[in-house]
Amino acid sequence: MKQKIPVGILGATGSVGQKFIELLSNHPWFVIKEVAASEKSAGKNYADAVNWILSAPQPEQIGKLTVKNCVPDLDCRIVFSGLDSSIAGEVEEQFAKAGYVVVSNSKNHRMDFDVPLLVPEINPDHLELIKIQKYGKGCIITNPNCSTIGLVLSLKPLLDNFGLESVNVVTLQAISGAGYPGVASLDIYDNVIPFIGGEESKVEKEPAKILGSYKNGTIENLNFKISAQCNRVPVVDGHTECVQVNLTSKPAKEEIIDAWENFSSEPQKLDLPTAPSKPIYYFNTVNYPQPRIHRNLDKGMALSIGRLREDSIFDYKFVILSHNTIRGAAGGAILCAELMIANGYIQ
Ligand code: NAP
Repeated sequence: MKQKIPVGILGATGSVGQKFIELLSNHPWFVIKEVAASEKSAGKNYADAVNWILSAPQPEQIGKLTVKNCVPDLDCRIVFSGLDSSIAGEVEEQFAKAGYVVVSNSKNHRMDFDVPLLVPEINPDHLELIKIQKYGKGCIITNPNCSTIGLVLSLKPLLDNFGLESVNVVTLQAISGAGYPGVASLDIYDNVIPFIGGEESKVEKEPAKILGSYKNGTIENLNFKISAQCNRVPVVDGHTECVQVNLTSKPAKEEIIDAWENFSSEPQKLDLPTAPSKPIYYFNTVNYPQPRIHRNLDKGMALSIGRLREDSIFDYKFVILSHNTIRGAAGGAILCAELMIANGYIQ
């Protein structure tokens, strides 16, 4: 790329916004030109507006940028959105109408019939949907829920090789998934909270669209059964999920591990900067995967899987782990934008 593409971050002060800044500050294709957030932050230097919670140092040049309001007069072509869902829907639409490419982490537009719900390794062809959007030069692309992303990455090789009948998933979700300041310390310390508002319905609805097929301008959802229970646990980063599956054929355990280990897709073929070299790592160690050990694997973009074994109710059960603010949010969204550029969707 001869010249880097100027990008903006909506919700730049939040938990996901900060991860965008960390991941984009030395990106080979993108340069951060604009940061935007709420009225309370607008007008301040980024360094004064943000409560920086990452271990990576805040990039000095970003700290000097003035935080703007989330209105579509930003000097950039692409905006990455880490906006609170209470305003994301409307703001993202305004940006798309004004001609910006919007890559969103919020729930608001994920299930719109003309909006790709994109996991670049799984459904790159769903990007064709943006051709039927009504925004002219602008468009909206969405990243799935942070628990959905890990789940569908584990299911895709099973679907392709053995067919998928039904899924049961119990999530153990990190605190950072609730944003900053998120869950009160007195609620989460020494505790597990067996409820995350709206989460179970997202995890139950989004996979059918992502794993569905693109045909003549629409997505035909995958027909399979899924049930989810979502829990908040006292882990800082990294969502763990205990998954049970029924498959159409009954493969041997080794065949499933082979399907996961050999899974590779378009981002790897295209060698996209944020793509993990291997999307899925299977561990034979009996007590893996663990959030503290595996969440940063392969730039925080890989899915870790372990504990595959036969189940007495379903065919198989296993445990997965992925980084919620990297693979499940900022890193996943950046990978979507890289795929769009590599495949000619952004001129
Ligand atoms: P967060 O830490 O609460 O950050 C929210 C951001 O939105 C802040 O920058 C905030 O700016 C901005 N904002 C709030 N109200 C606004 C308004 N009225 N106008 C303009 N900006 C406003 O939340 P988060 O965890 O980063 O999540 C951001 C989005 O990503 C949410 O939709 C969430 O569901 C989704 N998501 C999060 C994760 C995760 O792991 N955390 C994963 C996947 C998806 P101020 O600082 O100025 O208030």
